[in-house]
Amino acid sequence: MFYEYVWTPVGISALIATILFFFSLTVAWWLQPPSDIPPYATKIRGKIYDLRNFQHPGGNSALALARGRDATVLFDSYHVWNEAHEAVLKKLPVLGGAHDPDYKPLSDFHKDLKKLARQYAKESGQKRLKITWGRFCLCVMLVPCYVATAIAYFKLSYWGLLWPVFTMLLGLQLSHDGSHFSVSRIPWINRLLTWTSVWPWVYNPGLWMGQHVVQHHVYTNDHKDPDLYHAHPLSRTAAFFKWRPWMILMQSATLVIQPFIATLTLSSGLGIKAIASVTPELFAVLWHFAPETLFYIFGTTLTWVWPIFYKSIHGLWLPIAGAAISSVWFIAITQVSHLQDGCFNAQGSWAKRQVASTKDYSQDSRITSVLSGGLNTQALHHVLPVVHSSHYTDLYPHFRKVCQQHNVRILEMPSLWHGIAGWMKRQWRLSFPNAVEPPPAQNKAHNE
Ligand SMILES: [Zn+2]
Repeated sequence: MFYEYVWTPVGISALIATILFFFSLTVAWWLQPPSDIPPYATKIRGKIYDLRNFQHPGGNSALALARGRDATVLFDSYHVWNEAHEAVLKKLPVLGGAHDPDYKPLSDFHKDLKKLARQYAKESGQKRLKITWGRFCLCVMLVPCYVATAIAYFKLSYWGLLWPVFTMLLGLQLSHDGSHFSVSRIPWINRLLTWTSVWPWVYNPGLWMGQHVVQHHVYTNDHKDPDLYHAHPLSRTAAFFKWRPWMILMQSATLVIQPFIATLTLSSGLGIKAIASVTPELFAVLWHFAPETLFYIFGTTLTWVWPIFYKSIHGLWLPIAGAAISSVWFIAITQVSHLQDGCFNAQGSWAKRQVASTKDYSQDSRITSVLSGGLNTQALHHVLPVVHSSHYTDLYPHFRKVCQQHNVRILEMPSLWHGIAGWMKRQWRLSFPNAVEPPPAQNKAHNE
């Protein structure tokens, strides 16, 4: 009896997960763009460095993200607290490369932002601006709610619909920040915490590391930003994508459908095609994070197989409603910050482009910060990803001052609702063939 009622759905899910996992790996391997950097090396400021005998103090996972790619931006944006990384770089064996025509030195704006983080850390008495005690206590209180609602889900109770709510709340404080190495100073704790929002439906940490931590943060709103490919080529997120006749219909349809299918297509093996085609060495990243990827796909599959196994088709309401809650929340807080008119074709140094590619909202609201994991202050998150989101509300006025000193305009919206309206208006406009990209809002400000 036990075997039949528990192990059958678990076994079916494990089998589907294994198939999807190898499917993801194959697609990642097949589609990844060619790289001139060997997988045992990395490129920083035009030079190719040998990593074979290098032990990174920040852990293997951080190093896995640098292998086989140009890691200049990662190197500059993740080493904030001192200059020790520069001395370490000098000691690494150089394999080749000399002058990189695309390389731009660290801007004064970026240098001042790092200075700001150091100064604020010193004044607040927290050495590395990891998670605050207040936010940590909130997470501890959320854990029993997470466990209780997870049990309710597998008992097929209505209370199970609260499981994705607590997953989002917990994951937004621990999982996204963990992926940016900002919750703890201990590398394996950050990695473990990325698992907190794996079940149900939210995201696959393995894919996320390549898609978000590397590609989205380095190439925000660029051709190489995987976030622009969520529903590609059914709909288009930027005017530089080719217009297709079906977009007139699909663009508005995806506005409604996208939030409901987002976490299923983006975060499972199904969404991998577009991400793989713009992300070098995604196969290696997925392989490094194989336990997370397998666990995610297995868990997501089980949340669908379990209710169907017990209630057949009538059980489907639970995963559909639950995935919808996760997806709408996820899309609302992640897409509205970047997919706005005036946030494309930004110019200037990397740090300036990060601010120019983002619109923030309700920056002084602590509740909004908790509910969005600090993504209401996305511009600050992009330039200082190693700072935990629990500091963003307090740090933001200081960030404003640094931006003013460098004549960098922060793009702002009054609320999340304005963000959703702006995102929808833009999507509708882009469904027509003659849509053009409005000029970057920040450059306009500079000319004024
Ligand atoms: Zn991020």
